[in-house]
Amino acid sequence: MVWGFPLFFGPSFLILIPAIAFAAYAQWKIRSTYARHARLESTGAFTARAAASRLLTAAGIDDVTVESTNRRLSDHYDPRRKVLRLSAPDSSSIAAIGVAAHEAGHAIQHAKAYGPLSLRTAIVPVANFGSQLALPLFLIGLFMRYPPLVTAGIVAFSAAVLFTLVTLPVEFDASRRAVGALREAAIVNESELTAVKEVLFAAALTYVAAAAMAALQLVMLLSLGGRRR
Ligand SMILES: [Zn+2]
Repeated sequence: MVWGFPLFFGPSFLILIPAIAFAAYAQWKIRSTYARHARLESTGAFTARAAASRLLTAAGIDDVTVESTNRRLSDHYDPRRKVLRLSAPDSSSIAAIGVAAHEAGHAIQHAKAYGPLSLRTAIVPVANFGSQLALPLFLIGLFMRYPPLVTAGIVAFSAAVLFTLVTLPVEFDASRRAVGALREAAIVNESELTAVKEVLFAAALTYVAAAAMAALQLVMLLSLGGRRR
């Protein structure tokens, strides 16, 4: 959102270039890794849907339903509805099983009231509100030469940055749970587990890239706000 204004932001915009390059790399990495491992069939009898159900049952969870979503790479767990949505539920590829196990990891976090997940869920509305309000406040403050508005914009943007940072432990932990649970339930073998880890690592990179982008955007706003004040 912020980088729609490169000309206006001038040299401050340069701060974002490493983050933009990293984000592009992370996008390429997850797409290529997923595509490669989507062609790799698991030797076990599990589809992604069956794997997710098995992991949920093994964790003592019986109130989460598994559904399908037709958007590619849009797999997610919805904590409000207790629904796990998979983009390739009937696939038994390593990529599909790995992602399904990761989403089951989120459902397990939810069932166990894992702290960072609760915190992330709690700050979603604040972060959404903050990210929508931040730039208008900041820009109006700059144009009107009214520092309190500039500061308010920066504070609002900080909520969005905090969200991307809290997301990191939540995502890493879900993948860690996924790998442990897949091994314990013997859904994939050890060499397949290595491939699952590659997919989940690539997915985690996109969250690191998003956090880096948000943090550097904040640095850019701070530098811009400081200079024009
Ligand atoms: Zn996740």
